[in-house]
Amino acid sequence: MTAASLRKGWCPGARRPMLTGDGLLVRLRLTGGVVPAPLARAVADCARRFGNGALDLSARANLQLRGVSDARFGPLTERLEALSVLDQDMDGEAVRNVVSSPLAGLDPSALVDVRPVVEALERHLAGDAALHALPAKFGFLVDDGGRFGPSDVAADVRFEARPGPNGPVFAVGLGGDRRGAVMLGACAPGAAPDVAAALARTFIALRRTGTDLPRRMAAMLAVTGAEPFRAAAEVSETPDAPVPERRPAQPLGYADLGGGMGAIGFGAPFGRWAADDLDRLAGMAERYGPGELRLTPWRAIMVPVRHERLEAEPGGAQPAVARLLRSSGFIVDPSDPRLAAAACPGAPDCASATTATRRDAALLAQAARGLAPSGVTLHVSGCPKGCARPDATNVALVGRNGLYDLIRHGRADGDPVRRGLTASEARDLIEQMGHSVE
Ligand code: SF4
Repeated sequence: MTAASLRKGWCPGARRPMLTGDGLLVRLRLTGGVVPAPLARAVADCARRFGNGALDLSARANLQLRGVSDARFGPLTERLEALSVLDQDMDGEAVRNVVSSPLAGLDPSALVDVRPVVEALERHLAGDAALHALPAKFGFLVDDGGRFGPSDVAADVRFEARPGPNGPVFAVGLGGDRRGAVMLGACAPGAAPDVAAALARTFIALRRTGTDLPRRMAAMLAVTGAEPFRAAAEVSETPDAPVPERRPAQPLGYADLGGGMGAIGFGAPFGRWAADDLDRLAGMAERYGPGELRLTPWRAIMVPVRHERLEAEPGGAQPAVARLLRSSGFIVDPSDPRLAAAACPGAPDCASATTATRRDAALLAQAARGLAPSGVTLHVSGCPKGCARPDATNVALVGRNGLYDLIRHGRADGDPVRRGLTASEARDLIEQMGHSVE
């Protein structure tokens, strides 16, 4: 590990961690977000033995161990290697940024089981050194078209399953989420890794034509338009078949998947989990389901369950689910006000922060929910980097010298309309904004 690899702001991995206020942050990119229960327990053990016992679930469904010291990083690496969750090298790891449908292979509403596609795409990205020149945050998305597809998650290159005349195809899109992406055409599911590589190579080549060219696809399209990408990727016309209307996935609580299967989704306040939480979920997964956790890009972990096992519990399936939800201590209700606020780790975890963002977000959550009935309305960020949320929110509070600057309808790096607020002052202002929304 070099000093350069530890510099702050680097997009971290497991081979190349990032230095934060509480030590090294080690990000595990677990393919497809599929975590067998024994692996979940092993990761929990790593978090306790080598880190500070805390884990984050990132917006790309990656698990992040926190508080790893320099001395414990080597032993941690050995353990992760033994668990087969380490890439061959840092560069291959850095580009393996693929978000996919968390219930792939389990959700009968899906058009394609995207797990083999995701595995092939990740192999391609990690194995082709020419693609390692992609910018660190450049990301891909594979959506199975089902009710738990990540249609609302933005990506640089996206593949969305749609019905085609001879079976499902992937609609290929660039930049943005399902609504905002520029659609190029369609490809067969098996062709997605090659199409992704062609688009990535085009992006890299375009960036080499000038200095200061954008590092993300949406901004690149504003400069070059979509034609260079359309010319490079072998895509056909998107099928005429009507595109089914889809609502953003709702991962919390119990979902009946049909075919005797269900899934229970749990959220942790502001994406912060404890090692013991993973152990508990792993136990639940083995007792009630096929023994897997599924990581989602919505900061929730889903536990697939079998109906017959719930039915065998005292009182039957429904009371069993109700008990699990009630006793979990996690967020299981989509109307929980804490879901209205996003917050980065802040102080004391991050050296760039001067405010306790997660503590303050908890204080502000109720007021934030008053701004809109659903979605994230408030972003509490320790600094303008805005790690917790790249998009604009109704209100962003950005820490500076122990106080907050307030930005309306913008990102954490936007222009403040108010400066130097305490968390209580910010709450009063947000409550007033909520009243004026009514
Ligand atoms: S946004 Fe938060 S976590 Fe990211 S660098 Fe700033 S203070 Fe640290």
